[in-house]
Amino acid sequence: MARSVSAIAHAKVNLHLGVGPLREDGYHELVTVFQSLSLHDELTLTEVDGEGPVASLDAHGNPEVPEDDRNLAWRAVEKLSAWHRDNGGDALPAVAIDLLKGIPTAGGMAGGSADAAATLRAYNALLPVAAPEEVLWRIAAELGSDVPFTLVGETQLGTGRGENLTPMLSTGTYHWALAFAKEGLSTPAVFGKLDQMERTPHLDTAELAAALRSGDVHQVARLITNDMQAAALSLRPQLRRTIEAGERAGALRGIVSGSGPTCAFLCEDAETAAEVAGELGLYGKATTATGPARGAYVKESK
Ligand code: ATP
Repeated sequence: MARSVSAIAHAKVNLHLGVGPLREDGYHELVTVFQSLSLHDELTLTEVDGEGPVASLDAHGNPEVPEDDRNLAWRAVEKLSAWHRDNGGDALPAVAIDLLKGIPTAGGMAGGSADAAATLRAYNALLPVAAPEEVLWRIAAELGSDVPFTLVGETQLGTGRGENLTPMLSTGTYHWALAFAKEGLSTPAVFGKLDQMERTPHLDTAELAAALRSGDVHQVARLITNDMQAAALSLRPQLRRTIEAGERAGALRGIVSGSGPTCAFLCEDAETAAEVAGELGLYGKATTATGPARGAYVKESK
């Protein structure tokens, strides 16, 4: 029987996103605090006849999600299968990738990155000899700046491009309401806008780290920082009204998630998050989520 492995890919928010200067390699120096959220995609890799390493990718007609080698999940399989081959492994069957999106595409929630991380875990489970964790790490960092975080999840301090991670102690569960936009925002476009703006980067996360250790949601809400928000709001001014609507509905704090356009609202408890999502749902798609959540993981087969 064809072997099949499913894995879960969790979204993220940045509780702090400090954007430093543009480096010579074209990336910005970041100081960021990631929190993984319960919101997720599910990927299933199934061994099939055909040419590999990836025979096909099915995103169920989602028009924004590429179904070829532009998809980060596809590229994750290519890279891990190349590692297997370079290490003397036998030829492997091709895989078909089934991708069920729950994370908005181009929404500032690292959806594509999380899919890559979950695919690395799933494909690794199909290898006759699994790659060690450090190989997954290296491939993750090659695939994109947010992929290493989505591999491990929880709450992490990210530096460099965001790929150098240090676990942070975080107490308690955080309740979020999320408002999705109909149309995504391109992360490079938001960085481009930011580079034209006069600004002072916020690179100190010490106070936020203390608030997360104590689990004080009010302090965390007060300290949330996103240097990309001004640029995202400048490209999509209507997001300001979304943030105001969520805060009016009872959220402690509303922010643009990463490069946007998803808006994330930190709430005092699960009931308030449901009320805020209900109110935001009058204007567009909205949901609730909790954090921190795990990194990408393989689902136990039933
Ligand atoms: P980040 O928060 O890491 O900046 P994002 O969440 O804003 O990313 P993604 O959902 O990763 O953005 O999508 C950005 C682009 O990447 C999409 O417009 C799409 O063309 C491409 N893409 C590649 N792989 C995927 C995938 N698995 N799911 C969705 N989009 C993907």
